[in-house]
Amino acid sequence: GTGMSDTCLFCKIIKGDIPSGKLYEDDDIFAFRDIAPQAPLHFLIVPKKHISGPSGVTPGDEQLIGKMIRMAGEIAGKAGIGHYRLVFNNGEGVGQSVFHIHMHVLGGRSMGWPPG
Ligand code: AMP
Repeated sequence: GTGMSDTCLFCKIIKGDIPSGKLYEDDDIFAFRDIAPQAPLHFLIVPKKHISGPSGVTPGDEQLIGKMIRMAGEIAGKAGIGHYRLVFNNGEGVGQSVFHIHMHVLGGRSMGWPPG
């Protein structure tokens, strides 16, 4: 076919065309382990809808983004983690490398602030 699922890495992971360490899936979102974990618990939550990044969010996406935040806590909690950090990178200059919006969920160790 044609569309983002042919070109976007995270669309391919959502479709199952590329294997992932899936932690959770429903009609709206997909959660999977980061391939290069930066903390004992490090997973990504993505919407199934292709959105380029935080700056691509529209008013109609607001409920979806809220669900991502709510499910971060649910999934981390099932892993026994109650203290966690949520990160969205927007733009290459701050580290965005995949242009399908994703929320990092990091936990299981102490973390400094501000981030480097
Ligand atoms: P960002 O740098 O914020 O765009 O985050 C992209 C994240 O995707 C990085 O933390 C990568 O380690 C992660 N990543 C890249 N490819 C894969 C993959 N195939 N499976 C799981 N995570 C991945």
